[in-house]
Amino acid sequence: MSDDRVAVVTGANRGLGFETARQLAVRGLRVIVTAREPKSGKEAVDELNLGANKRKISFHLLDVTSQKSIRQLALSVRKDFGRLDVLVNNAGVLLDRHKGGEPTNSIMDADMDKIRLTMETNVYGPLMLCQELIPLMKEHNYGRIVNVSSGLGQLAFMGRGYTGYRLSKAALNALTCIVADEVKNANILVNACCPGWVRTDMGGKNATRSPAEGADTIVWLATLPDGGPSGGFFRDRERQPW
Ligand code: NAP
Repeated sequence: MSDDRVAVVTGANRGLGFETARQLAVRGLRVIVTAREPKSGKEAVDELNLGANKRKISFHLLDVTSQKSIRQLALSVRKDFGRLDVLVNNAGVLLDRHKGGEPTNSIMDADMDKIRLTMETNVYGPLMLCQELIPLMKEHNYGRIVNVSSGLGQLAFMGRGYTGYRLSKAALNALTCIVADEVKNANILVNACCPGWVRTDMGGKNATRSPAEGADTIVWLATLPDGGPSGGFFRDRERQPW
């Protein structure tokens, strides 16, 4: 596969999205950094474009909860690049916390407005991005989609706490299977992964992994060779139970 590949990363202004964009650019892909806020998005692109990655990284505004915003992105990608090879659905929120940052451990405390916003961001955003961008992948019979999920969404280990987040990541895992099956004859590989507990704004400073370690499996899935796995859930490049 040549270095013409074009990748979209959502929520790439900070955290795992930023690091994923950096690693993809280092591998030679042209990366479209997206963020919902222009200032932090452009600052991220300036930082990423320092040094060897110059001109490989561009910016596009994207709020994943807005279908209009997603459609504008799809139109721009078609116009500016004429192709899309990689979609990393990274943008996400974890809203099940009290003011001090403590998790809401009981479903009885779960705030429905926060649950709705969590689903809009973590599930319906990736769903709409697939709807708008898969047609572009199909035109070149190539695609890699990575849904950045979490162990908190694994049904095999489901437990209490983080209700909205857990629901959203379990649904994102289901979305992964649905989309993977639908595109299985189009050389589009669709997988979900858990990055581990990573030192970002979401993971906090006590997390055990660096963003670079967390992004490793995301980038691996985003650059799988033809015939690679699809419809799976991975951590540390190993398949995990749902
Ligand atoms: P983070 O530092 O909090 O970054 C989240 C990113 O998502 C930010 O760029 C944020 O943009 C963006 N975002 C939120 N809502 C958005 C929207 N409506 N439209 C566009 N962008 C939006 O979190 P992170 O740790 O890097 O997490 C990235 C992904 O990894 C998430 O899906 C998360 O669930 C998953 N994950 C993280 C961990 C961990 O330990 N960190 C563990 C498991 C899974 P703003 O700057 O504008 O808010």
